[in-house]
Amino acid sequence: MQIIHSVSEMQAIKINSLGFVPTMGYLHAGHVSLIRRSVKENIKTAVSIFVNPTQFGKNEDFDNYPKNLTQDLNLLKNEKVDYAFIPNQKELYPEIKNLFSLKISNNFNKKLCAKYRPGHFEGVAQIIMKLFNIVRPENAYFGLKDYQQFIAVKALVEEYNLPVKIIGCDLIRETSGLAMSSRNAYLNPSQRKEASSIYQALTKLQNDLLARAANLNNYQEHFVALIAASSPEMEVQYIEIYDRELNKINKIIPGKMLLGCAIWFHNVRLIDNLLF
Ligand code: AMP
Repeated sequence: MQIIHSVSEMQAIKINSLGFVPTMGYLHAGHVSLIRRSVKENIKTAVSIFVNPTQFGKNEDFDNYPKNLTQDLNLLKNEKVDYAFIPNQKELYPEIKNLFSLKISNNFNKKLCAKYRPGHFEGVAQIIMKLFNIVRPENAYFGLKDYQQFIAVKALVEEYNLPVKIIGCDLIRETSGLAMSSRNAYLNPSQRKEASSIYQALTKLQNDLLARAANLNNYQEHFVALIAASSPEMEVQYIEIYDRELNKINKIIPGKMLLGCAIWFHNVRLIDNLLF
């Protein structure tokens, strides 16, 4: 495996069938599932590890974001990744002039995580645009764990005609049902166990919605009550339902729905979703 830090060195690599998995590191089985898919579907695979400052809000966890580069590089070697791209912040963001920035529509920014993380998806669009121009992959792999991000990246590629195919990969869970996330490392083992109640509440809400055919009344209150009953220390930031293109809906069409939530638990923000 080649470990690359400089932008020009990464740009000098010219491969037709290159798969790419952008990450912020502290890799877990969710990341591994994307990496394995890329290794399988492409002649070469590049994985980037970069905690992107521009997608974090002022009071978010940029400074504390979990890191373990040695462990991550070992994992990438074991997975037969060809290039580990570990850019440094100074090179990616030299004296930012801020001449150009990507704006995201108000409609998108009113939904799900975007509403509670102003500027987040603009930051995601910025780093993805930069990474795609540096790595120039044919295929890029994104987890459906971050469903709104997947939609944003697909829109970016479509609207700016970027020559990359975006491939969405299933959300991977721990055996308890908790969605895997680097941020789970902030929780101790018993909190982690308790956090599986998010998945249980989502599943219960999904089943209730399917059972009461099309009726969306009070689903948010219902979810908040489910969470309060199992984990009183959790605070529901949002629970929202859309179709899979993130359009508002007024009735359930099985097979076309996204149910997404964000929960605060011991100062950790956890997101999860179900496609049903
Ligand atoms: P991150 O390092 O959190 O920026 O994630 C890098 C990529 O891995 C993103 O495309 C995420 O959606 C994906 N990912 C993170 N957690 C999971 C998971 N539990 N299942 C599937 N994909 C995931």
